Amino acid sequence: MNERRVAVVAVGGNSLIKDKAHQTIPDQYAAAAESMGHIAGMIQAGWEVVITHGNGPQVGFILRRSELSRHELHEVPLDYCGADSQGAIGYMFQQALYNVFRLRGMPKQAATVVTQVLVSAEDPAFKHPSKPIGSFMDEPTASDRAAGEGWAVVEDAGRGWRRVVASPRPVKIVQREVIEAMIAAGFVVIAVGGGGIPVVEDPAGNLIGVEAVIDKDFASALLASSIRADLFLISTAVPQIALNYGKLDQQWLDKISLAEAKQYLQQGHFAKGSMGPKVQAIINYLEAGGKRALVTDPQNIGRALAGETGTWVVP
Ligand code: ADP
Ligand code: MG
Repeated sequence: MNERRVAVVAVGGNSLIKDKAHQTIPDQYAAAAESMGHIAGMIQAGWEVVITHGNGPQVGFILRRSELSRHELHEVPLDYCGADSQGAIGYMFQQALYNVFRLRGMPKQAATVVTQVLVSAEDPAFKHPSKPIGSFMDEPTASDRAAGEGWAVVEDAGRGWRRVVASPRPVKIVQREVIEAMIAAGFVVIAVGGGGIPVVEDPAGNLIGVEAVIDKDFASALLASSIRADLFLISTAVPQIALNYGKLDQQWLDKISLAEAKQYLQQGHFAKGSMGPKVQAIINYLEAGGKRALVTDPQNIGRALAGETGTWVVP
């Protein structure tokens, strides 16, 4: 019997939506099934896996539906949009995994945990909401919603107005013990969808949902260090991390140290809204005692685990 090896696998938006022309539910299911097939490969190789995922476009769709039916139905607060998306994406992953496990004769089952993630009400991000969500609005609508609902709104580079919310730092995975118990029992767990549903504690210790968005890479890293995962794998749209990405002197990285990751991040090699938070999340995981991290794309997970591609980051 092998010793238990636990991996947190954070799947990016490309595991659900490949491009603008493939956004429907059947399209998302097809993309999910493909990614789940690759993750099933690592489960076959002996890994116990917790899958985390983003939900940006899906929450955008829920908000848009809610907005279009405002004249008839109550609107859906952002924390509930997050919960809805965790359920629906969890359902997709569970079904895709069930079907691939059946096909390959694997005695495994997957289950989704609706995951709340504690944030601090004092987080400076609440004073500077910066994460745009929902659709574009004209100026009168924006000021109307700002006055009526207390939304923070910003003008987005001539494209119109958008609501912005805070992106606070994750402090604690509220359902951590549940996730650990399920892993220990041999289940594949889907958790911390969309970075988790942000909640704060009131003075009495009760949880209250907040309308904010937690970065999914940060929350996944916190989960990985909290459950002492042996591997933090970020599955995204590129097979490796590069220096001078997209430039003539681009250089793919096979293996870097924590110190190098910090240095390259500081030198500006990793774009702010995309690779930057992934590298910062990996730094957080390794600094909290994590063992090793890997960045690659879904189709290369097997090869990367065999050391043939991907970017490894080690302490
Ligand atoms: P996800 O949905 O997985 O979070 P993101 O789009 O946020 O994906 O981040 C992955 C993207 O980061 C890649 O598709 C790539 O275009 C971009 N990127 C930015 N800087 C780098 C870099 N230095 N090396 C590799 N990819 C990079
Ligand atoms: Mg991203």
